[in-house]
Amino acid sequence: MNPDNGHLNTSSNHYKSHQSQTRPAGTVTIAGGSIAGLTAGLALLQKGWDVQIYEATQGELQHRGAGIITHQALFDVLAKLGVTSRQQIGVQIQTRKTFAQDGSITQTLELPQIATSWGRMYQLLKQHFPDERYHQNKVLHSYRQVGNRVESTFTDGTRTTSDLLIAADGIRSTIRQQLEPEAQPEYAGYVAWRGLIEEQDLTDEERRELFPYFTFCLPQGEQVLTYPIAGKQHQTDIGNRRYNVVWYRPAATQSTLQELLTDIDGRNNGQSIAPDKVRPAVVEQMRSDASELLSPQHIKLINKLDQPFIQPIYDLTTTTMVYRSVVIIGDAAFTARPHLGVGITKAAEDALSLANALEAYTDQSTALQHFQALRQQASRAWVDRSRELGAYLQAQLMSDEERRFANLHRTSEAVMLETANPLV
Ligand SMILES: Cc1cc2nc3c(=O)[nH]c(=O)nc-3n(C[C@H](O)[C@H](O)[C@H](O)COP(=O)(O)OP(=O)(O)OC[C@H]3O[C@@H](n4cnc5c(N)ncnc54)[C@H](O)[C@@H]3O)c2cc1C
Repeated sequence: MNPDNGHLNTSSNHYKSHQSQTRPAGTVTIAGGSIAGLTAGLALLQKGWDVQIYEATQGELQHRGAGIITHQALFDVLAKLGVTSRQQIGVQIQTRKTFAQDGSITQTLELPQIATSWGRMYQLLKQHFPDERYHQNKVLHSYRQVGNRVESTFTDGTRTTSDLLIAADGIRSTIRQQLEPEAQPEYAGYVAWRGLIEEQDLTDEERRELFPYFTFCLPQGEQVLTYPIAGKQHQTDIGNRRYNVVWYRPAATQSTLQELLTDIDGRNNGQSIAPDKVRPAVVEQMRSDASELLSPQHIKLINKLDQPFIQPIYDLTTTTMVYRSVVIIGDAAFTARPHLGVGITKAAEDALSLANALEAYTDQSTALQHFQALRQQASRAWVDRSRELGAYLQAQLMSDEERRFANLHRTSEAVMLETANPLV
């Protein structure tokens, strides 16, 4: 990490002094075709690698997901990958506002940022990546190191052999579970209720008073935040955008969490729940709690959410990102709670840093070690910082001393300044 600004130096200049000769590009299998997989694929293609991405899901991914906040570091990576311009990516926000329970505005803060949707980011990356190298409905089952190469086996029997295997397969990574089974996502003790509202479903007053802003409402030990994002078809023009709503709520015990995650068919996978399977009674309870706890403006927003869904919050850290010819990137290696909004930026930085290291060092294993030295430290720092910001939402887990520390991040000044603002 660059000690001056807390940002990783992913530029290829960082490595140039170590480069003695150009490494012939090799073959790479990437498991996972989301943000980490696509950015790694694009970065390595640019450096002459023969890249194939294998993504588990079938069908369109770009209409899934909700809001994300972008950061300069993300634009820096995208620019290096030749992906789009800043204006097209999302919706510009200038100001943050906090609302009290009586509806008054208690604080405002000028903080220009661009918000967009996960789908928009995925679509932009996917458009730039060759279709013939992106294979869907391919679930990686296991891998085996064979000499200097890696043999990857998929559940449908497909096998690939490559110089490098990149695990970009997210928080439940199959490859990580094979390599470091003890590294498991740790439940943080709270969930995010999330949902989207079409811009045209807001009243004139809401479009004026809420939509342009990043807003907060902060009941004791909870946090609501809202901001505008691109539309379902990725539109950024007025009238066709969406409003993103997130409400962090404690669900302290495993039994409370499991209750929330039990779906309309009585099924429960213990970790997540499909958005369209949340039980109406659970949604009703959440809306009823909103009417007791939130500002009138936020109550109305919560009531307008068409299909609110639940995202349990987890932390994940690993002890190593590199195992011979296998490298783990993005959420598969380190998952930070969403409070800093760095998930996508972190994945993109991992990807570019990896490609630069592989270009810079003739020996692959040296390249991977250098990549790891940079990215492990940066990623761990994001996870730790995100934990700090979210600590006050997990009140049930803390001693008095921990609670005192957590409360430093719960004042409305701190929440407004620190949320999705990793430069603070
Ligand atoms: C559909 C979707 C919607 C999302 N929406 C949001 C959002 O709205 N806001 C937000 O902040 N973050 C969202 N995220 C998470 C966000 O993408 C990540 O936090 C971050 O960008 C890091 O990305 P990643 O590529 O490392 O992991 P992920 O985005 O989790 O991607 C992992 C990918 O690997 C695939 N995969 C898993 N196992 C296998 C396997 N065995 N073989 C092959 N492929 C496999 C998954 O299908 C997935 O596409 C979303 C992720 C997905 C997949």
